[in-house]
Amino acid sequence: MRGLSFEEVFALLAAVQLSGANLVQLQQWLACIAHPAECIALIEAAAAGRPCPHCGGARKHRCGQASGLQRFRCLACRRSHNALTGTPLARLRKKECWLSYLLCVLESRTVRDAARVVGVDPTTSFRWRHRFVPGAMRERPTTLNAVVEADETYLLESRKGSRKLTRPARKRGGVAKRRGINGEHDCLLVARDRSGQTLDFHTGRGAVTAAQLRHCLEPVLPADALLISDGALAYRRFAADAGITHEWVNVKGGERARGAIHVQNVNGWHSRFKSWLVRFRGVASPYLIHYSGWQRLLDARRLTTPAHLLCAAARRRKTVELPN
Ligand SMILES: [Zn+2]
Repeated sequence: MRGLSFEEVFALLAAVQLSGANLVQLQQWLACIAHPAECIALIEAAAAGRPCPHCGGARKHRCGQASGLQRFRCLACRRSHNALTGTPLARLRKKECWLSYLLCVLESRTVRDAARVVGVDPTTSFRWRHRFVPGAMRERPTTLNAVVEADETYLLESRKGSRKLTRPARKRGGVAKRRGINGEHDCLLVARDRSGQTLDFHTGRGAVTAAQLRHCLEPVLPADALLISDGALAYRRFAADAGITHEWVNVKGGERARGAIHVQNVNGWHSRFKSWLVRFRGVASPYLIHYSGWQRLLDARRLTTPAHLLCAAARRRKTVELPN
C-alpha cells in the first residue's frame, strides 16, 4: 500500500469525530514525538564540560555519534564515552519517549499505565522506573538544619513479583502472622527538619536500632541539631552516644506535643507516603527505597518538570578519583 501523505492523514483526522479519550491519546502522542531532539539537548547540556568518567581526564576529542549522543574519546586513557556513561541511564533506548515517561513519573502512574501512555512494553516501563527514579532521587540534602524530627514507619515486607517465594503467598493486603513490629516488617526511617528538608532510609527488617540510627542520622545532623523523636529507647541511646541534644514525646502515653516539641511533620510525611503508595498495590521490599525517594521528590516539589527529572537522573553517580 502506498504511504499516506501528511495532508491526507490530516484530512482524514479532521473528518473524524474525536472523543475526549481520542483527544487525550493524540495529545500524548504529539507530546511524545515532539521531544526527541529536546531530550538529547538536555542530556548533552547536563553533561557539558564533564571530565572522562573512566579516568577523570579533561582532554578529549569528538569521535562520531552513537544512539543520538556525541561520542568522545579521552586523550589520557583512550577510552570512549558519551554524556550518559556512568549514569543510571546509560544504554537505555528510545530516548524519544523519555520525557513523556518522566511526565508519567511526575504523575505517579503505575508501570502498566505509563507503558500504555508512552507506548512501550511494560517490562521497559518497569526497567525505566527503576533507573530514572533512583537516578533522580539522588538529588537529596546532604545535611538537615537545626530542629529535626525523626520517626520510622513500618510496612509489611513484600516479595511482589518474586519468582522464588520461600513462604506461602499472602492474600492482597495481607497481615503479619505475629503482632507488633518484627522481622516481617520493613523499617523506613524518615528525618525531616522544620524547613521541610527530608531524608529517608530503609534500615532493613524489624524495629530500628540505635546503631542503625547512628549510621543513618549522625552524618546528616549538624552539631547543634535538636533531635525530636518518640519515646523509643533506640533514639535516646543514639542521641546519648552521639552527644546530640534530644527531646522526645511520649506518643504511646498519648502526648502529642509540648509546644514546638512534636513529630507531627514527619508523621504527616509518613501518612502522605502511605496513601500515595496505595495506587501501586504493594511494593517489593528491595524497591521500597525507590518509592520513598520518589515520594520525597514529589513531596519536596523541587523537580517539577520532566526536564528537571531528566537532568537530575543524568547526573553522574560518583566523582572519579583523580590519579596523582
Ligand atoms: Zn579517560
